[in-house]
Amino acid sequence: MAWHGRLLRVDLTAGTCTEEALNMEWAQAYLGSRGLATKYLVEEMDPKADALSPENVLIFATGPLTGTTAPTGGRYTVVTKGALTNAAASSNSGGYFGGELKLAGWDMVICQGRSPRPVYLYIKDDHAELIDAEGFIWGKSVWDTEPAIKARHQDGAIKIASIGRAGENLNRYACVMNDLDRAAGRSGVGAVMGSKNLKAIAVRGTRGVAVNDSDAFAAAVEHAANELAINQTRKDLTRTGTLSMIDVTQAFGSLPTRNNQDVQFEGTGNLGPAAMTKVRRSDGSANLVKNRACFACTIGCQRASKMDPTHFAAKGEGRERYRNVSGGLEYESAYSLGPMVGVDDIEAATFANFVCNEDGMDPISFGATVAAAMELYEEGVITDAETGGVAYTFGSAEALCRAAEEAGTGTGFGKDLGLGSKRLCEKYGRPELAMVAKGQEFPGYDGRSMQGMGLAYATSNRGACHLRADPYEDDFSGGKLDGKARIVKDSQDSNAAIDSVGICAFPMMVWGLDEVASLVNAGCEGEWTVDRLNETGERIWNMERQFNLDAGMTAADDTLPHRILKEAAKSGSGKGRVCELDTMLPQYYELRGWTADGRPKTETMQRLGLA
Ligand code: SF4
Repeated sequence: MAWHGRLLRVDLTAGTCTEEALNMEWAQAYLGSRGLATKYLVEEMDPKADALSPENVLIFATGPLTGTTAPTGGRYTVVTKGALTNAAASSNSGGYFGGELKLAGWDMVICQGRSPRPVYLYIKDDHAELIDAEGFIWGKSVWDTEPAIKARHQDGAIKIASIGRAGENLNRYACVMNDLDRAAGRSGVGAVMGSKNLKAIAVRGTRGVAVNDSDAFAAAVEHAANELAINQTRKDLTRTGTLSMIDVTQAFGSLPTRNNQDVQFEGTGNLGPAAMTKVRRSDGSANLVKNRACFACTIGCQRASKMDPTHFAAKGEGRERYRNVSGGLEYESAYSLGPMVGVDDIEAATFANFVCNEDGMDPISFGATVAAAMELYEEGVITDAETGGVAYTFGSAEALCRAAEEAGTGTGFGKDLGLGSKRLCEKYGRPELAMVAKGQEFPGYDGRSMQGMGLAYATSNRGACHLRADPYEDDFSGGKLDGKARIVKDSQDSNAAIDSVGICAFPMMVWGLDEVASLVNAGCEGEWTVDRLNETGERIWNMERQFNLDAGMTAADDTLPHRILKEAAKSGSGKGRVCELDTMLPQYYELRGWTADGRPKTETMQRLGLA
């Protein structure tokens, strides 16, 4: 138990919804969520198929612990071939949608084909149907889509995952949004949903989730929750969210600034936790309204924010919606909408983040793409003719806000911005200015002062990512280069297992893998130990790798931009250094049991049950 043992197969081409038994042999080998859904992806699609073609498969998958009382057990993952990366994509989100899908009795929903007309999927427990979205919610933002569906079905408790106009317009970094401001954010999974003419999945669930050993599970939950309750790191995360990281990366010199030209930003004082809680003169309120928590979460790291109503981006007729409360800046969005574009205006960054919520865009990729456009503009490669007269200079809050609206709606220069930085820089003949790995924009860490993070970006199966590996502590404490490959490889494996269980990554700042093993072992059928979780994660990692190789990627894709490999950091703890990827990568391949050209050896695949 903990799995329901059933999935919903939605054939969008035929317009049918069919119940199917979950492959429980695969569930024992790949857990759920990221791992199990990727197994279905690998089995059901040609890896070479275009990400935006009907041949791509789009899977919404819960984990075995999703919908239970396990702390943070509300996560789901969208798995597909990414529109941004052309690689295996798995984008994880919190909020309440994942828990509701599980409570409705489904382990996953597999969407295949392409609907001839825009539709949305409505699920109420066992009942599932596709409903016409044309003339109803197609063409609408996420903020308009969710209330419209709830009103039509006269049920305010429905939980919804949808795309905004960015997904409809096939913006390459479009997200799937749920609960208005939670996002399955990375790799362009929202563009895949748009390409299938699937606007939303609306779900209402009342069935509950059964665990294997309820007494043992209750004890494991109590222990895990207590560990979080008393821990100072957890308390800090509740108080400041992830935003306090901006002070750490600024001090260390790993804060990507102005398209990674610099690694420290002079304006962090206007963007950090203190700025967020500072009471404004204009309306007597602060940017931060309160913290919020996802389903079953006892941490509550989310920020709920409200803009200054007198800020240029929020004031005036027709802009009332930006004066309401929405999901606010977290570290990654604060970095990408702040230092990366040279902007130190917390209200402008909040506005751009709100528009990303409203129209479903990944703020990391959006901000980094604007940064690339700013460098292209400052170098004279693009001009006012392309930007519609907007001066794309680093530090321009006006350009950032305009860019958000145009990228969200696919208008004006937003069409170019919607390409993402790799395609944008290639279009204008300067591919080296895209700060990406495998086509996906960097999160908020520079791979020169943080060598382990550089290796993690280069080897991540879904493109540059801060959640695939955990080199933070070692990087910040100046760990030796020789140990980086081991730390990155081992944490990639354990993180793959955690993602596949159905919980959030943040409790792992407090827990060890033994807490997760206790929860899974009590909740699910089978004997689950720390070793088995690590091996499962390694199996998932190699399966994703093989998908990417079969899609046409090679070891040449395990790389970083010229700037990170050849241009030394100008300041901070990494001053004078480049990322020494050439040294770390062969060590990493060796530890993985891969050949010198990055292919899993036959004995590695056999050991993991993949050959
Ligand atoms: S720690 Fe934050 S992101 Fe994770 S489940 Fe809790 S509120 Fe959501």
